[in-house]
Amino acid sequence: MKRRDVLKAASLAFVSTLTAGYGSNDVNEKETHKKAKIKSSAVPKKRKNSKVVVVGGGWAGLSLAKHVKIFAPQAEVVMVEKRDHFVSCPMSNEWLVDLVDLEFLTHSYIDASQNNNYTFLNATAIDADKKKHILKTSRGEIAYDYLVFAVGIEYDYDAWAKGDSVLEERLKNEYPAAFIPGSEHITLKHKIKNFKGGNFILTVPEGNYRCLAAPYERACLIADYFMHHNIDGKVVIMDESNKIRIKDKGFSSVFNELYKDHIEYMPSAKILKFDLDKKVVETDFDEIHFEDASFYPNVKAPYILEKLHMTRSTPFNRVEADINRNTYKVKGTNNIYVCGDARPMGFSKSGNTAFSEGMNVAQMIADEINHKTPKWQTPVTICFSLLSTKPEREISLYTEYKYTKNDGMDFQNNITDEAWKTNGLGKEKVAYNWAESMFKNMFY
Ligand SMILES: Cc1cc2nc3c(=O)[nH]c(=O)nc-3n(C[C@H](O)[C@H](O)[C@H](O)COP(=O)(O)OP(=O)(O)OC[C@H]3O[C@@H](n4cnc5c(N)ncnc54)[C@H](O)[C@@H]3O)c2cc1C
Repeated sequence: MKRRDVLKAASLAFVSTLTAGYGSNDVNEKETHKKAKIKSSAVPKKRKNSKVVVVGGGWAGLSLAKHVKIFAPQAEVVMVEKRDHFVSCPMSNEWLVDLVDLEFLTHSYIDASQNNNYTFLNATAIDADKKKHILKTSRGEIAYDYLVFAVGIEYDYDAWAKGDSVLEERLKNEYPAAFIPGSEHITLKHKIKNFKGGNFILTVPEGNYRCLAAPYERACLIADYFMHHNIDGKVVIMDESNKIRIKDKGFSSVFNELYKDHIEYMPSAKILKFDLDKKVVETDFDEIHFEDASFYPNVKAPYILEKLHMTRSTPFNRVEADINRNTYKVKGTNNIYVCGDARPMGFSKSGNTAFSEGMNVAQMIADEINHKTPKWQTPVTICFSLLSTKPEREISLYTEYKYTKNDGMDFQNNITDEAWKTNGLGKEKVAYNWAESMFKNMFY
């Protein structure tokens, strides 16, 4: 079997394990759907069945809510999500250059909760009383037995803005990162469409940022768009690290060969000064003029975790969740968990990883509910990067993780396939297929 076939088989095996026997009707046919009990002053009572509340309806939260109902069907599950509907970040690079439409990325939380027997509460979590086990939301309070924060990331502009809030707001609004779904992505798409030529800067932050491969994939797809639309533009990748962080061989060869006139890769390019009026950025070595840009800053755990004193700094990022890496429990608590991109462990901050982790943490909570001993399982990272469209070329990676001594972590069973010159997407359109199976799994 070729390397590529092994990788494809590994990712398909992951997806089909997920789907096997997990039809929503299999588990809870008899269950009558219970509504979340939300009161302005919720008093936790001794409940017959455990109540699991998950904050965040991203890849981790959707997976967790669904899988708790599978592994502990008797539990009541409420998912609290501040957005009204889900828009996927994975495949959004493809949407930026018109390879998929918005409908492909957009899904209904109502569908997800109805099909998977939990309650969706469209509200923002604002605080929690850890002693009384109450989550406070913009729509009232909810009592919980187990609380999970699957809240993703926020941007951390601190290293650039250094407290200058005007600069921070200008960076956010004039040159949005587009690594959290919403208006930022639409603005970036308009920037690409309206680009007339010159330098288009994309930055890659240090630390463990969201989706290691996505900035490099985005650069390729924007360069591909410029080439096919006769735009005399160049994507300048300013990478704070000294080398490409993932699938280095594949990305660097495609930059040097396919995109030698349309991508300039700059390693160790930390921006020290912005002059947004003159459209110039400065590093230790260079001054770069740009016509347009999307500045991707560092990332950190969302503010609610800081507010609840559940964060610490790590070698990767300034603010991340403070949890036990084996149990996912917030230090000093016995029933509050964090999973997905907000976690502090050095796993890839990616959708497949967050989804598999949501499933693993669901299993751990179900084990507690069912009086079994929870055990740690590795998350699984699967990452396809589309490099060009005519012809379609891609590279991919599969990895699992293991813990080593002294709080270390290593990869295991990892396979990368970076032979883009021979890798088409195949009849199965493998990257699109992966996304579709994940959406099916989380929503339908
Ligand atoms: C351009 C791009 C391309 C990517 N490509 C891939 C890819 O190809 N493959 C891959 O595996 N991954 C990819 N990723 C990464 C992937 O999107 C993230 O890793 C994934 O979304 C993380 O899931 P999560 O559940 O931890 O966080 P999120 O998906 O961000 O979900 C967190 C949710 O919590 C909600 N929330 C936060 N705070 C609150 C609150 N206080 N109250 C209520 N709700 C709250 C948010 O609204 C959000 O919906 C990509 C990301 C980007 C930006």
